Amino acid sequence: MLEAGKDLGEVWWWNNYPGARVDTCWPFYDFSDPDLWQDWTWEERFPGRDELCRYFEHVEKKWDVKKDIKFDHFVTKARFDPTHDKWTVYSDKGYTAKAQYLLLCTGFAAKPFVPKLTGLETFGGISYHTAHWPKEGLDVRGKKVGVIGTGASGVQTIQEIAPHVQQLSVFQRTANHTLPMRQEAYTDQTKQQQQEKPKKDYPAILKLAKTTFAGWDYDQLTKTAAEDTPEERRALWESNWTLGGFRPWLNNYKDLLTNPEVNRVMYDFWRDKVRERLVGLDPELIENLAPLEPQDPFGSKRPSLEQNYYELYHQPNDCKSQEESNCRSDADRSEDGIRGGNRSRYSRLGHRLRHSHRQSDSDRHPRHQRRESQ
Ligand SMILES: Cc1cc2nc3c(=O)[nH]c(=O)nc-3n(C[C@H](O)[C@H](O)[C@H](O)COP(=O)(O)OP(=O)(O)OC[C@H]3O[C@@H](n4cnc5c(N)ncnc54)[C@H](O)[C@@H]3O)c2cc1C
Repeated sequence: MLEAGKDLGEVWWWNNYPGARVDTCWPFYDFSDPDLWQDWTWEERFPGRDELCRYFEHVEKKWDVKKDIKFDHFVTKARFDPTHDKWTVYSDKGYTAKAQYLLLCTGFAAKPFVPKLTGLETFGGISYHTAHWPKEGLDVRGKKVGVIGTGASGVQTIQEIAPHVQQLSVFQRTANHTLPMRQEAYTDQTKQQQQEKPKKDYPAILKLAKTTFAGWDYDQLTKTAAEDTPEERRALWESNWTLGGFRPWLNNYKDLLTNPEVNRVMYDFWRDKVRERLVGLDPELIENLAPLEPQDPFGSKRPSLEQNYYELYHQPNDCKSQEESNCRSDADRSEDGIRGGNRSRYSRLGHRLRHSHRQSDSDRHPRHQRRESQ
């Protein structure tokens, strides 16, 4: 096996950005081999990247796979020889392998995408793609940070770094229809209590998961929204909201994604739930985070799970107007900032999170690195 990453984990080896974690709770992200789950217990309901890496070490102990993997080898070419029915595979390190069968398990989300933002190439600050975060970490304390994108990795990064940075600007194209994660951290006691029983049911749960749309233990309902009264609909949506995860999206009526009227009522439910947590904020910011009118149908893009995402926007913002003007002038200087040419596609949330914690120069060890090659 040839692997471009330097250790086990695949997507989890690459994605070590702050807050990286699954949006799929256990046991659905576990390997189904009993040898692997029988003596493994998770620390969190939605494990983070570090725990996932420990899990992969556990897999290594059981499966002894590393001996068969050449890490840090990026496959650049593969040729099929019809005379001998053999593939020859070439890596960027000069390694060549011959094989009768070639399996390309290269992942559907393994290639980072960097949007063409005017000025990014000449940006003088530190910039990283979340999938190419420095392995030694990046100290963001006391820094002015801009996060571009509010998909899953954007939301997770924001949640993790917002309490530590001096100032945070969030740039988003459209609002993320985030859903409550309902994360749980287990103590030694609850770990045993909560994971012991499901373990007995693992074979049945994992078997069931193979039959559902998303591979979990629940599915779309078999009825349409019209088959329930408004009160019953509300009760279902409230219950799904309380249970959290992707239930509000995928444990919903079967016409949620095909009937625009049903979708709109669900959107309003989501919007109002989010807006409850935004009370007191700048109206423009509220509108950006949970628009009155949907920018796209609810659930037509994969929602992300959040823990305290909206609460973070309540953090003090005591110099907004000054920073607004700084931002405008930065945007016009290609050495210092990203030009404003893409603003029609990305709108800044119109709010900055600001913190009093400042880091002294001697504390800072940033790896001044421009964009890594993608
Ligand atoms: C941050 C993040 C969180 C995610 N969370 C979830 C989740 O909660 N639930 C879920 O179901 N999915 C999640 N996903 C989707 C995730 O892609 C899949 O869960 C899973 O990792 C896909 O496994 P894979 O083996 O197909 O691909 P990957 O894990 O992407 O592995 C592909 C591997 O191929 C290697 N590779 C690619 N090209 C080459 C080459 N030319 N030569 C050598 N090696 C190469 C890459 O280095 C990579 O290690 C998440 C993705 C990301 C980025």
